[in-house]
Amino acid sequence: MIMEGKKGVVLGIANKKSIAYGIANACREQGAEMAITFLNERFEQKLAPIAEELGCGNRLYPCDVSKPEEIVALRESLERDMGQIDFIVHSIAFAPKEGLSGRFVDISKEAFNVAMDISVYSLIEVVRELKPILSDSSSVLTLTYYGGEKFIPNYNLMGVAKAALEMTVKYLAEDLGKDGIRVNAISAGPIKTLAAAGIGDFSFMLKWNAAHAPLKENVTIRQVGNSGMYLLSDLSSGVTGEIHYVDGGYNIMGMPAVKFDENGKPHIAWNGESK
Ligand code: NAP
Repeated sequence: MIMEGKKGVVLGIANKKSIAYGIANACREQGAEMAITFLNERFEQKLAPIAEELGCGNRLYPCDVSKPEEIVALRESLERDMGQIDFIVHSIAFAPKEGLSGRFVDISKEAFNVAMDISVYSLIEVVRELKPILSDSSSVLTLTYYGGEKFIPNYNLMGVAKAALEMTVKYLAEDLGKDGIRVNAISAGPIKTLAAAGIGDFSFMLKWNAAHAPLKENVTIRQVGNSGMYLLSDLSSGVTGEIHYVDGGYNIMGMPAVKFDENGKPHIAWNGESK
């Protein structure tokens, strides 16, 4: 029971396909006590059975991170019901649809600001507001994607947001290390979730990743959950400011495995076809 005695809050469970659910589940299995949040009333009802299952039926709080007063209210609820906490999972991102397909050059300032606010600034704001109730041996985890490092078709605006998020992790890690707060990110491979459905041609991304990742399959929320649990636990007490890949190894590839047809045209080699 690696998380026995640990208390925390998980932001970003939309349903049982959410990466945050995978992380919460792994933490629960290892003995953690948790609270989870929902975006608005529409999601409260959906999340109630999930909260029950995670053992936090009475700790389900509203938190739309675009509303600073809801983050303050979250801290008050957590303090009242749990006292100190040891971990925060920030598994939240949003970009208007126009930012997730089409020409990058056409992205509006409005869409850009919304994506940066919800997907990046919210990490700083949540950590700052919850800091007074964080223990002096605590861990913060957020979620990123390889599209924040390298070009990925259609990831467009979210790629820029993830690049900013990854640097935010590093600056927060340095700033908060002296307070005993670690800050890390998992860079997860593509997984079919609600948020992912908004990215243009996402099913192609899944196929491409499975074909070219060394492990030759896409990762699951259980795999991301287990790695997340490690980063939230004392097992990773010497780790901070880290972007940890859980992507089947995709990020190490410098060149996809292709073979050429009889006309000399490159032919994408799906699972093992080139061998
Ligand atoms: P998800 O299940 O749709 O989770 C995204 C969560 O963000 C939802 O719970 C959503 O709430 C929440 N959210 C959006 N706007 C919010 C706001 N203003 N305030 C509070 N919560 C808000 O999708 P997911 O794929 O698990 O995404 C979780 C994280 O993993 C994101 O940061 C995503 O970029 C990252 N990630 C995903 C993948 C992937 O392929 N799926 C890969 C790497 C990284 P509602 O659903 O209630 O709107």
